[in-house]
Amino acid sequence: MGLVPTMGYLHAGHASLIAAAAADTDLVVVTSFVNPLQFAAGEDLDSYPSDPERDESVVASAGGHVVFRPSRDEMYPRPMITTVSVAELSKVMEGASRPTHFDGVTTVVTKLFSIVGRCRAYFGEKDFQQLAIVRRMTADLSLPADVVGCPTVREHDGLALSSRNVYLGPDERKAAPVLNRALRSGAAAIEAGESDAAVVRAGMRSVIEAEPLARLDYVEVADPETLAPLENCDSRARLFGAVRFGRARLIDNVAVGASW
Ligand code: AMP
Repeated sequence: MGLVPTMGYLHAGHASLIAAAAADTDLVVVTSFVNPLQFAAGEDLDSYPSDPERDESVVASAGGHVVFRPSRDEMYPRPMITTVSVAELSKVMEGASRPTHFDGVTTVVTKLFSIVGRCRAYFGEKDFQQLAIVRRMTADLSLPADVVGCPTVREHDGLALSSRNVYLGPDERKAAPVLNRALRSGAAAIEAGESDAAVVRAGMRSVIEAEPLARLDYVEVADPETLAPLENCDSRARLFGAVRFGRARLIDNVAVGASW
């Protein structure tokens, strides 16, 4: 069984996960659930975009078989007093900006693993921190899932596909690739021999701050496994960032030495 957990409003990034699952497994289950546990007050839980009919056709044309779209009541028939929480990895970057987010993610992914049973589970590198946390949780708890990471699918200008890109107005859409550009400039600096992570961070920050429509949340140079911020970086480093454009909050990350 292949499992592709999503929040719906599927795009080509999700389709790539479904296609990878279809290539490896006999029965591909795509879950579509906008999980309230991973949203904080004031975030976009109630305005998160949705198009179930289009999702059905994306799943079918990518080779998926079953869509599981539970209601909130079906997933949480009573108040949840049980939480699955991964320490350390959940505290930095997205976890610092969204302190309750990853507990919501790890709790719902544990439930999905439990509902679906033994599976290969496909997650995007687009949410690299989430992938690292789910991997660690699965290993620590001996969950019956093999976690598979899949590369980020991007628009022609480098913008990572995201359901939240629909929030971007036309000018914000034009500005949004600055996030990927900043991360790539950081990767290029490391490839050219820069080893001081503070210099790399400052360079990425200045690229983003030059874009008037961008409001920087964070840029980071971190270890890809521990996600700990680095002081000295080498080719193992991974570059992360989060930026707001109007009401859209976008994240991205790149490896050093990658083509993007
Ligand atoms: P979401 O619906 O945004 O929660 O995403 C569901 C899954 O799709 C997660 O594992 C994401 O990392 C993955 N995903 C989202 N966007 C992309 C993308 N542009 N490329 C590859 N995977 C993605």
